[in-house]
Amino acid sequence: MTIDRSTAEKLDAADLLADYRNRFVINDETLIYLDGNSLGRLPIASRERVRRVLEDDWGQHLIRSWTDRWLDLPSRIGDLIGQHLLGARPGDVIVSDSTTVALYKAISAALDARPGRRSVVIERDNFPTDRYLVESLAQQRGLEIRWVEPAGTEGVTDAQLAAVLDETVAVAVLSQVDYRSAALLDMKGLTARLHSVGALSVWDLCHSVGSVPIDLVADEVDIAVGCTYKYLNGGPGAPSFTYVRADLRDQLRQPIWGWWGRREMFDMDQGFDAQPDMQAWLSGTPSVLSMAAIEPGVAMIAEAGMPPIRDKSCALTALAVDLHDEWLEPQGWVLATPRDPSRRGSHVTVARADALEVTARLVESGVIPDFRRPDGIRLGLAPLTTRFVDVYDGMARIAQEG
Ligand SMILES: *Cc1c(COP(=O)(O)O)cnc(C)c1O
Repeated sequence: MTIDRSTAEKLDAADLLADYRNRFVINDETLIYLDGNSLGRLPIASRERVRRVLEDDWGQHLIRSWTDRWLDLPSRIGDLIGQHLLGARPGDVIVSDSTTVALYKAISAALDARPGRRSVVIERDNFPTDRYLVESLAQQRGLEIRWVEPAGTEGVTDAQLAAVLDETVAVAVLSQVDYRSAALLDMKGLTARLHSVGALSVWDLCHSVGSVPIDLVADEVDIAVGCTYKYLNGGPGAPSFTYVRADLRDQLRQPIWGWWGRREMFDMDQGFDAQPDMQAWLSGTPSVLSMAAIEPGVAMIAEAGMPPIRDKSCALTALAVDLHDEWLEPQGWVLATPRDPSRRGSHVTVARADALEVTARLVESGVIPDFRRPDGIRLGLAPLTTRFVDVYDGMARIAQEG
């Protein structure tokens, strides 16, 4: 079967989400941007929002903005993400630090809640920051790291996880969607497996939030952390969110006790006394400009709805896989992403030894994917901004440059 460009054009014409693209700042229509999972595009509404926070809130209203405009941002935006994208209840989610710092707090709190257990589990292929944090905490506390390996293109299975578990494991750190292969893990099943030995789960949602439907309450996830600058379009360095299961909240205490996490913070009293709710996971003053930029993008995803977003995401990745099979496989490329759409997130990785050089040529010619070591070109297909013709043209360029 030959796929021609009109196939992609027809898919775009029938796309119920097509109009959302017009709500983003797009200055160069010739640029094929396939990296919305590293840095999502800028929503027009976010540009306006940041300008207003800058000029009105900061420029004119000054310190008064803290009390009447900014103080509730961490919980308000947390609730917006939680309710529409995470299957969480109001009060379950807070927006605060970078993903790295939030993960550190989460893993540390989970370890503290399982005193006496001497091991921590993580996948060998997990994102570097997750691995380094586990290594740091293991070294500080003299814990054993149990590596799940090799996760491979299909991701961690129940059997692989079960093989490293016993009653000495305190916590496992897992990514719902793998940053390289896009493998989508069975969050509910793996969490249940961890609970069967009394271990806690810390889920990294960086590559799943905003692209895959998530139901943290139904899946009985203990702690989850995710990024807001990828599919949520929150802008470079926008702060992360943290979810903690309601019935664990009084057992889990994050380690960075700052004044923002204290009851009656403005009393500035002696001794730390944690807030009773998710505010306890705050540490210091949040970055307001970055946080304000998150809200319009999340509101847009909430408006579009996760089921249509997931449907389009699967169709986009399916087109990329079909084009890989037709054009790239004969050139020696290998698909490094699960073939079954229900087992993958919203990116597709194709691998060949010279991927780094090919990526450089693609960027020069106006196609922006991401190179992922050792040999992958990763194509991030953001459902609100990527068109089917972008997938078609981007894949054609790889076939041409490769
Ligand atoms: C992007 C990403 C991060 C990013 O962490 P930062 O602290 O924002 O740099 C962490 N984990 C995963 C899986 C990611 O994809």
